[in-house]
Amino acid sequence: MAGEPCRSRRRVARGLFAAAALLGCFGVRPLWAGPQIEIVTADDDSVTYRELVPPRVAVDEGRGVFHVAGCPALRPDMPWVSPGVATLRGLQPHQCAAHRRDTYVTKVVPRRPREAGAVSVLFLGNSLTYYNEMPRMTAAIAAGESRPLRVEAVTMSGASLDQLWTSTRALEKLWTAHWDYVVVQDRGGSAPRTRAAAFELWVGRFAAEARKSGARVLLYMTWDPGHEAENAALFARVAAEAGARVVPVAAARHDLLAAGGFARLEWDGTHPDLHGSYLVACSIYAAIYGKPPLGARFTFPGLAVADEAYDEALRTQHLEPEQARAIQRAAWAAQQRWRPQRSP
Ligand SMILES: [Zn+2]
Repeated sequence: MAGEPCRSRRRVARGLFAAAALLGCFGVRPLWAGPQIEIVTADDDSVTYRELVPPRVAVDEGRGVFHVAGCPALRPDMPWVSPGVATLRGLQPHQCAAHRRDTYVTKVVPRRPREAGAVSVLFLGNSLTYYNEMPRMTAAIAAGESRPLRVEAVTMSGASLDQLWTSTRALEKLWTAHWDYVVVQDRGGSAPRTRAAAFELWVGRFAAEARKSGARVLLYMTWDPGHEAENAALFARVAAEAGARVVPVAAARHDLLAAGGFARLEWDGTHPDLHGSYLVACSIYAAIYGKPPLGARFTFPGLAVADEAYDEALRTQHLEPEQARAIQRAAWAAQQRWRPQRSP
């Protein structure tokens, strides 16, 4: 998200490429270029994809360099580590590193069958999605529906969509099931406006992939205070081109704040507080079920699972009934206003 310091902590995509993300934070050009997952082919029953083998380099502490496999200067006593670790230790790439190639393994994985009894939703995004367990909050709101939600998420702290594409297993997750909806969220704040070309490109790429997989695409409209009209026009255009539907969270948020019932909807100036996440959840509910979330539950005992900042508002704040109703109404009103701009 805009203004958020780049952090290596991640949720779904933790571990494998943490060092790569950390290097990216420091602006160090990584030694590898390929995405973690590349879809080769897919049909209704299975998906074939190539998976990047995590690169390893051999460390020569004495000479302050690291080598890649096949270098004649390798010695058996050199320990193998990730390139990120080697770089963070201050080691320089040996000339052999320029010739390193990404290595992939090909996997064939069955796709999970469609579930007639549930609406399955995959959320792709960053902290604006995972704060306060918003995907599971949306499922909790819809728990009483005849087809309740089954939700999963691929999220990464501070990530843009291109980072989700290259550095997480989002594509694998997208293709190994049959999602009814994929909710796409790029970096928030001013990022869509200031990175408009990238925003358009990566919303388009994820939307194309999701639609090809059989899912409908919802574009979570983040907020860009002070640039509401420009933000709205950008989301409308990009969604139309991508064959996605806008979930107009930013419009509903603006209405709520303008009405004066809420001083703020962010926990720390950037991330949604409980009220903000509830607004997102109600907005996504309204988009999926095509009806207002009036009367939806607004207490979520047990939903907070982590002793982390991203669940703190969920643990410590609560919604008054009139606040919940105002949020439910705002989510639906914004949705109604945006209806003519739906494309799929
Ligand atoms: Zn070498």
